[in-house]
Amino acid sequence: MRLAKRVNRISVSPTLAVLMEAEKLKARGVDVVDFGPGEPDFTTPEHIKEAAVEALRQNKTKYTPTAGIAPLREAVCNWHKRELGSSYEPAECIINVGGKHSIFNAVNVLIEEGDEVIIPAPYWVSFPDIVKLAGGEPVFVKTEAADGFRAHARQIEAAITPRTRMVIINSPNNPTGAVIPPDEFERIYDLCRKHEIWLMTDECYSHFTYGAAKPYSIASINGSKPHVIVIGSLSKTFAMTGWRIGYTLAPKPLIDAVNKLQSQSTSNPTSIAQYAALAALTGSMDSVPLMLAEYARRRTRILAGLRAIAGVTCAEPSGAFYAFPDMSARLGEGMADSTALARQLLERQSVAVVPGDAFGAPGCLRFSYATSIERIDEGLRRLASFFSVAASAK
Ligand code: PLP
Repeated sequence: MRLAKRVNRISVSPTLAVLMEAEKLKARGVDVVDFGPGEPDFTTPEHIKEAAVEALRQNKTKYTPTAGIAPLREAVCNWHKRELGSSYEPAECIINVGGKHSIFNAVNVLIEEGDEVIIPAPYWVSFPDIVKLAGGEPVFVKTEAADGFRAHARQIEAAITPRTRMVIINSPNNPTGAVIPPDEFERIYDLCRKHEIWLMTDECYSHFTYGAAKPYSIASINGSKPHVIVIGSLSKTFAMTGWRIGYTLAPKPLIDAVNKLQSQSTSNPTSIAQYAALAALTGSMDSVPLMLAEYARRRTRILAGLRAIAGVTCAEPSGAFYAFPDMSARLGEGMADSTALARQLLERQSVAVVPGDAFGAPGCLRFSYATSIERIDEGLRRLASFFSVAASAK
């Protein structure tokens, strides 16, 4: 079949095939300990679900404006102002079909053939492919495990060329959990302003931070609007991955361009999901600290278990719900890379993880701890037995 060239520029990550294998095993009844999911294991809070049911009852099942219902755009601006200190107006906000869609739209209205987009690595898998689909070139800046995988302004500066159009920062980061401290984030912003480059900030995990790290948005800086694109998602904060609601906050001309693109593709996000999102952003956020406390407990447990494996190092994740250990010391015969290691873990111990190759970090594995503490313990027991260490998961 002759497919358009643009679609051949991107791929379904071959390494994610390991997770598909895990699904097949589960379907056959195998007891797989699944550290794969990039989504909360918690359910959507009741008042959010109720709002969707009520919207259904009231027949709010028609098209809405492409950019989303007016009260939701307003609620996003108010929520972002309250939680993260920005100052956007509804005209500077559009509701999209999940945060991935927000990134897809903004990249597609800004990036042209040959434009370069700087992305710190390890990176979330979709960033480079979305850039490539738009004709741009991802330029990776490697961050170091020893430094907690935090991106630095000086590295980004070294990667800037006359073709650089955008820098994408994802803090807290998927897959590493790294959180960029506000002063460093501001240095990155200063660079973008100086070089007239867009700073796209993916705040998908904003409310899941641990220890000294706190929710932070670069959009809280006065006067930052002309250079910043905020990407937000309700998926993780409110355990709403399936509802597909994300948003973009940016200067009005950019929002208008995204609106035009969206009007010729998805049109509005699902109407009843928008009413649910409105309830999420205007209602109680009690579920968030509860989820966070549970993630924090699991994080301690999984870090201890992973670090107990001889040769394995694991930077402490300051945010999100992933641990990203460096397994390179345990690679070798029959397990040349982390994809091979992940495959062996699945075959021999029925433990599913995502290989670091998928995120531009060969040698690492991503463990999601969005799973119960009991399953984490069971997974750690299996890992200990796989690596033949007397690590105690408890
Ligand atoms: N950004 C990052 C870093 C993510 O990890 C994800 C989802 O895993 C998203 C954005 C998109 O989430 P959604 O499209 O569900 O809003």
